[in-house]
Amino acid sequence: APIIRLERLKKSYKMGRTEVQALRGVDLSIKKGEMVAIMGPSGSGKSTLMNILGCLDRPSGGKYYLDGISVSQMNKGELADVRNQKIGFVFQSFNLLSWMSAFSNVELPLVYAGVSTERRKKRALWALKLVGLGSRANHRPMELSGGQQQRVAIARALATSPAMILADEPTGNLDTKTSTQIMMVLQKLNARGMTIILVTHEPDIANYCHRKVVLRDGKIREDSVNAFPLSAQ
Ligand code: ADP
Ligand code: ADP
Repeated sequence: APIIRLERLKKSYKMGRTEVQALRGVDLSIKKGEMVAIMGPSGSGKSTLMNILGCLDRPSGGKYYLDGISVSQMNKGELADVRNQKIGFVFQSFNLLSWMSAFSNVELPLVYAGVSTERRKKRALWALKLVGLGSRANHRPMELSGGQQQRVAIARALATSPAMILADEPTGNLDTKTSTQIMMVLQKLNARGMTIILVTHEPDIANYCHRKVVLRDGKIREDSVNAFPLSAQ
């Protein structure tokens, strides 16, 4: 079964008396282990789609199956449970807590998940090592470069062993060289089987992915396989 299946997915926002149709019938299937770039002009529905994929928001119509579970009918509490169990988020602005060490930032979702201190420590150090920051565990965000901060954020997303990672413009605040390093980390995780879906404006970043989905006016305009993705190595 695919990890994501969308059937005629729709989302509209009420704006006073009018309704904005942000997604107008999206059909999409993503298999486990895919690395997909979502592209499209501003206002085409990328954020709306990511919010629904991330169980942060619900569709107005259609179906969403996540890892075989029908989530489109769930209430907020159920959605939050699925989100915490299945999804790791990476943001453009890193969203790290500035007063906490890299280790504590990565550990935090495990605190919320009620994981024991001992397991948290193992898991957080494992994740930091995986992104190449094993020696920076005690640094605070301000003591790290932008690229290192984003790697901490990726480690935090990994800590809970999610089924997939959703990344919204993960390289949007980074220079080209640092962006390539972040794509190298994401490709490494993908090579270990992690499903990765990222939004990007940059064609160069999309070229590191195996698949490109382009939205336009709330519909999928293009869905193409990249048989020879760039290697960030
Ligand atoms: P993108 O991420 O591609 O820029 P969005 O998903 O943010 O696109 O927006 C798609 C459409 O939905 C746009 O017309 C936008 O104005 C509208 N929209 C997005 N979020 C809201 C909201 N919370 N309330 C009303 N309209 C919204
Ligand atoms: P509220 O939005 O008023 O805080 P909830 O988000 O908990 O309340 O939703 C109330 C109920 O409405 C939920 O039990 C849920 O099943 C149903 N519901 C809300 N949105 C949808 C939707 N998009 N699809 C199906 N059911 C929905």
